Amino acid sequence: MKTRKKTKIVATLGPAVDSIEIMEQMMLSGVNVFRINFSHANYEDVTQKIKDIRYLNNKNNWHVAILADLQGPKLRVGVMGEKVKLKKGDNFTFTTEKCEGNSEKAYMTYKNFPKDVKAGEQILVDDGKLLFEVIETDQKSIVKTKVIRGGRLKSKKGVNLPNTKISLPALTKKDIKDAIFAIENQVDWIALSFVRTPEDLIMLSDLIKEKSPYKIPIIAKIEKPEAVENINQITSHCDGIMVARGDLGVEVPMQRGPIIQKMLVRKAKEARIPVIIATQMMESMITSQVPTRAEVNDVANSIMDGADAVMLSGETSVGEFPIRVINAMRLIIESVEDSNLINSPVRPVECVDERFITKAICHQAAQVADSIEATAITTLTHSGYTAFQISSWRPKSNILVFSDNPRILAMLNLLWGVKAHFYDRLDSTERTVEDINKTTLENGYAVKGDFVINLTSMPVQAKGMVNTLRISQL
Ligand code: PEP
Repeated sequence: MKTRKKTKIVATLGPAVDSIEIMEQMMLSGVNVFRINFSHANYEDVTQKIKDIRYLNNKNNWHVAILADLQGPKLRVGVMGEKVKLKKGDNFTFTTEKCEGNSEKAYMTYKNFPKDVKAGEQILVDDGKLLFEVIETDQKSIVKTKVIRGGRLKSKKGVNLPNTKISLPALTKKDIKDAIFAIENQVDWIALSFVRTPEDLIMLSDLIKEKSPYKIPIIAKIEKPEAVENINQITSHCDGIMVARGDLGVEVPMQRGPIIQKMLVRKAKEARIPVIIATQMMESMITSQVPTRAEVNDVANSIMDGADAVMLSGETSVGEFPIRVINAMRLIIESVEDSNLINSPVRPVECVDERFITKAICHQAAQVADSIEATAITTLTHSGYTAFQISSWRPKSNILVFSDNPRILAMLNLLWGVKAHFYDRLDSTERTVEDINKTTLENGYAVKGDFVINLTSMPVQAKGMVNTLRISQL
């Protein structure tokens, strides 16, 4: 886990991570955040995996974070009979009355489906492999369609309705139950799928406020055209975003994906919140020992554009090489980070608000660090705010964050460049800086004679906002 890389790796848990030894090897190879995908999780298994992560964190003094990913209003077809194959031009019916599907009809899990869809709209199934056009709806239980793109229709495949205004709530009953389970297990981040508007995020944040004694930050998964349109409001109602390219690539024309990804990274960086690039980053390594050249480029380019984290889904949850894929991803990350090609599309601090002093100091810290070639910027944080600020400037130096709150340390592990350390001796600023510089040296983040930038809040005992920048020579 003591890798030098700054870009973070999020790895999805699943049956491929079936022992604590594999989990520890993945952490040693560079995993910073484990993602639990509640579309497929069972509580007993998740409880054990959370216990294992915490055990390994304690044993090794790591802060690997846990991200609970809620399914959101995902639509699916029901159980299908054997080998149902549909041809272009076939008539096909979706019904909300439970049945086993065949070559004429399929059960649709979403009750309001006949009310929400309109003639002419598109229905995509199984990641867009099959495409249907709505011919008519009886507004009650039957939707008649024509097959535009045929193929094998398998059981329980996901359904996307890119043109339809879906009336399902952002948090389904399952999501509420899963979110409460995640809160009770004190996860570090919660992600919500199929976010459309800021109100969707407010629903989740109200639930967290009601059920959790402390704040759990939220990641908005951007995978709907509405979310892309509302991105400015969404970034001000969440703590991070995920470019969820799997569903996004079905909901918008595939050729728009790269442009949207770049726009989303820029928006996240302007808001100084982390952005995760997700899905099919190293897909071929589910079954292959090496990635394709295109995958290597995709990971590298995402980091150059400003991604905080790159995510693995099937590669680690069901893949044959969950450790090897982390090592391959780490090598790509380190190679990009050794170049001068990482972009940070952040705007300097413009408006004078209540956080102005801290924001301005963090910006200056990154600039001074680069200009004097400081090897580390250190900061004390209570809420994690300064870590978000410094990280978004992508300084070349190490970013060392000290806090007396282990929960904050794990949460910050998602942020680009941030290395978190526990520290709770807050008697004087002088003493704190001395201790922090000692830890910086002892952990090999700097050597004697190096410059280090220390950010503190004075007086240190007041636990206020960062207001002081000091340059130390070790
Ligand atoms: C995605 O669609 O890209 C994604 C990350 O979500 P999920 O894996 O939950 O489908």
